[in-house]
Parts: sequence; C-alpha cells; structure tokens
Amino acid sequence: MAFLIPSDLEPFASIEVVKALALIEDATEFAVLEAPALADEDELSDRQRAQVKAVLRGAVLRRNDAGSGVVQTKQLGSASETIDTARSRSFFTESEIDQLQKIVQDAGSSGAFSIDTVNTQVSGNHSDVCSLVFGATFCSCGAWLTGGPPLYESS
Ligand SMILES: [Zn+2]
Repeated sequence: MAFLIPSDLEPFASIEVVKALALIEDATEFAVLEAPALADEDELSDRQRAQVKAVLRGAVLRRNDAGSGVVQTKQLGSASETIDTARSRSFFTESEIDQLQKIVQDAGSSGAFSIDTVNTQVSGNHSDVCSLVFGATFCSCGAWLTGGPPLYESS
C-alpha cells in the first residue's frame, strides 16, 4: 500500500534501502499535505497511482541528489545554484504540487460518488429519486410503507 517502493528507484540511483524508505515516507506525507485526497489511496485508479508514483519518484531522486550536492553548491555560490538550494528545501516544486492536485481532482469526485452508492445500498428498494438517496433521513417514495418496491416515485 505505497505509491513508491525502493526498487522503483533502483534504475535511476543507488540509494540505501533505509534512506530510500525514509525519502519515500517523506515524499508521501508531503504529497498528502499538498493533496489530501491522496490519503485515501483506495479511491485512486491505477493510472492515478502511476501518475502519483512518477511525481514522487522525481521528487525523491532530486532530494537524494540534493543531499550529496549541498557542499558543492556552497563552494560554487553562483546565482542559479543558490536558487537550486532554496528550492530543495521544500520537497516538491510548484509544478509538482500542481500535478499532484490535478491527479486527485478526479479522485475527489469519485469519492463523493461512492458515498451516494452507500446511501443507495442502505435504502434498498427505494426509488432512484427517493429523498433517502439524496441524503435525507426519511423516505419519499413509499418503499418504507410497502416494505418492497416504491409507491410514489418510480425510476
Ligand atoms: Zn424511499
């Protein structure tokens, strides 16, 4: 139940497993901070998970590089290198945060849909347009009276 595992990083960099796990954990927590819907991993499609994985992997690999490049950066001291150092303090770049939030936009709406599904299941034989289906605590279709199919509103 993780977006990214250490072996996903192996083709790109040789990172100790302990360090890789720590970087992945950090990346995942920051990703959830930026896009809270990521916390509900089960709501994501395979494609969404793959997209999240790609963003996390890029950030983790950059973070890994930054860890070994800090001293060199200070010695060089050029303007561009200074910017790189500042950027590396936050886990994700602005565009990566945009990507994460874009990926879960669909996940958010499917989450709302699954709540509706639960209501429908609870209501059993009720009409599709019964108030229960729309979140009410009463039945407007008559299924509560008949104990079977709806009386007043058919679907
Ligand atoms: Zn009803």
